[in-house]
Amino acid sequence: MDTPLHPIVVIGAGPSGAIAAALLRRQGHRVLILERQRFPRFSIGESLLAHCLDFVEEAGMLPAVEAAGFQLKNGAAFACDGRYTAFDFGQTSSKGRPTTFQVQRARFDKILADEAERQGVEIRYEEEIIAADFSAQPQLRVRRADGSEYLQSACFVLDASGYGRVLPRLLDLEAPSAFPLRRAVFTHVEDGIDPAGGFDRNKILITTHPAHRDIWFWTIPFSDGRCSQGVVAAEHHYEGRLGDLDACLKGFIAETPDLAKVLENAVWDTPARTIGGYSANVKTLHGAGFALLGNAAEFLDPVFSSGVTIAMRSASMAAALLGRQLAGEAVDWESEFAQPLKRGVNAFRAYVEGWYEGYFQDVIYYPDAQEDIREMICSILAGYAWDERNPFVEEPARRLRMLASVCQGQLS
Ligand code: FAD
Repeated sequence: MDTPLHPIVVIGAGPSGAIAAALLRRQGHRVLILERQRFPRFSIGESLLAHCLDFVEEAGMLPAVEAAGFQLKNGAAFACDGRYTAFDFGQTSSKGRPTTFQVQRARFDKILADEAERQGVEIRYEEEIIAADFSAQPQLRVRRADGSEYLQSACFVLDASGYGRVLPRLLDLEAPSAFPLRRAVFTHVEDGIDPAGGFDRNKILITTHPAHRDIWFWTIPFSDGRCSQGVVAAEHHYEGRLGDLDACLKGFIAETPDLAKVLENAVWDTPARTIGGYSANVKTLHGAGFALLGNAAEFLDPVFSSGVTIAMRSASMAAALLGRQLAGEAVDWESEFAQPLKRGVNAFRAYVEGWYEGYFQDVIYYPDAQEDIREMICSILAGYAWDERNPFVEEPARRLRMLASVCQGQLS
């Protein structure tokens, strides 16, 4: 194998960038990450799925993550108008990892980036990609924090820029998302939850608004007595509420007695933030000299905490394929990267659609669910959405609708 003259350049040092860079470095390649911010920096996306730790381990970063003292997570709980149900990652048809973590992303992302650096990846912080040229040797225009600019050549570019969506913007690859515009308002609180009260800190709690099934809340407990607390709703539900974000979040919670009770002793010490219009898609996941990872490609919706797992899965798949390409093998990015990646993404998509249309919520709260079916559903909730032995991965939308009609029939 000839050593390429130029490094592999990764845009962004978030989870997809750090994992892809480390995996390629472990194959012996020269890898450079260009990251526009200085770490640690805030990011949303704090509840991890079990499958994502498989990639953290593959990249040699699991001991560092395990040593960080993050809150253990062993499943997901759902609450709606007095009903409560919990899924346990130890009971999945895929027999994957039973636990993962709930993480403050500023720390988590810094650990991953530091681990990539420790393995020999070069990271240049506060350097932003502002232009890209793939007509010949891939070349990126980079702007430093002091405003100066330079050109960086690459043997291949992996765009892991998340919501920055660098190559989709610069190369006109953006495509509309099929999901309507939704918005999240969120904060961190000193939660004051009484440990004796039965609240399970080892699970994310998803609570549905009692009057609007398309409005939901996340409660993500951390290991330091704090929680990430957010609400997600379609834009029209926010009419007249966005002037004061703290009041907006507290107002939605006050309308939801199940959740108001959980947070009755919370200390609201951090100003709420908002992010909207985050669902995004692209025309293609790859082109001559580049591939798109994680949120730089497609982002569905936060409801099943799939973002970081999809980001890391795409990183792992792209790193393996690029390694083969750089070793001189003929590879096909469409059939070996884009299509297999999308199969799992489409399984999550069916769940997200079913959630907002309400029928997946009927499945979740169905009291007499068969154990094997619950385990298949739990596999996807744990992130094993690429396990094609699971019928809910192979034909997600049809299976889910069929199951929902059985549950609805039994309940009516
Ligand atoms: P990011 O984590 O966004 O990293 C991209 C990096 O690229 C950033 O550091 C950025 O500074 C850098 N960058 C951007 N532009 C440039 C540029 N021009 N030049 C250089 N660098 C650049 N996911 C979960 O798994 N669990 C959750 O609980 C969850 N909750 C969510 C809640 C909400 C409301 C939303 C909107 C999303 C949530 N997500 C969740 C999704 C999660 O935030 C993302 O999927 C995940 O962060 C994607 O990782 P990434 O590596 O692709 O991108």
